[in-house]
Amino acid sequence: MKIVRFLSAGSERLGRLHDDGRVTLLDGELFGRLTDSGRPATVDKLLAPLEPRDILCIGLNYKRHAAEGGQAVPEHPVLFLKNSGAVQNPGDPIELPRTLRSDMVDYECELAVVIGKSCRNVPRARALDHVLGYTCANDVSARDWQRNGGGGQWCRGKTFATFCPLGPALVTTDELADPGRLAIRTILNGAVMQDWNTADMIFDVPTLVEFLSASMHLRPGTVILTGTPHGVGFARTPPVYLRPGDEVTIEIEGIGRLTNPVIEEPAAR
Ligand code: MG
Repeated sequence: MKIVRFLSAGSERLGRLHDDGRVTLLDGELFGRLTDSGRPATVDKLLAPLEPRDILCIGLNYKRHAAEGGQAVPEHPVLFLKNSGAVQNPGDPIELPRTLRSDMVDYECELAVVIGKSCRNVPRARALDHVLGYTCANDVSARDWQRNGGGGQWCRGKTFATFCPLGPALVTTDELADPGRLAIRTILNGAVMQDWNTADMIFDVPTLVEFLSASMHLRPGTVILTGTPHGVGFARTPPVYLRPGDEVTIEIEGIGRLTNPVIEEPAAR
């Protein structure tokens, strides 16, 4: 099932997105039982499919991406965190930082894994039993703050507000059984910038769930960003960074297209 979250007449609702684009209202809870009421929904505004509890991110998880950044293939998954306040809705803007200025804001298409059932020390063979489903993510990254402004930590450059677009739909595991063979792309202003397949991950989704759950409690609503393939802006000649007026789309086979415009950070709000 494809699940969307949206505003309808001022209320937040969950719905089932059908192949023909219709949305019907779901009754129940995202991490409990959900049933399709069959009643048509009026979608006033699409939201990210969930408000993540934690956002765990994996760096350097595709070989050619590690190589384009001059990094060795890691021995263990490389973990960093995004703040849940960085989440942005489909269609809402990615804001280029202007208070802490960055002129090196980059896109990264990523498969996002949504944990549905709590787990700790789950073995690889049972890891996917704890996954509710998948969505598209853009791990937006200010390369200057990631490299030089963060004291060696990636978090500063990765957790500006709006730097974690998610959506449009959360596709449950009954509809998308194998996350390990999905085409994944970034399209910037109509041009394909990243075009690869999740089959090339160094650490696949079950391995990531096993690894992460070995050190922490993965709770319902935890989102895991699984890394990006090659083709990011900083590694291109000449480099390509996001500019006001751009439109960036993350597309994953079987999930959908997550599109966000790019603007400058507004003045004080
Ligand atoms: Mg990333």
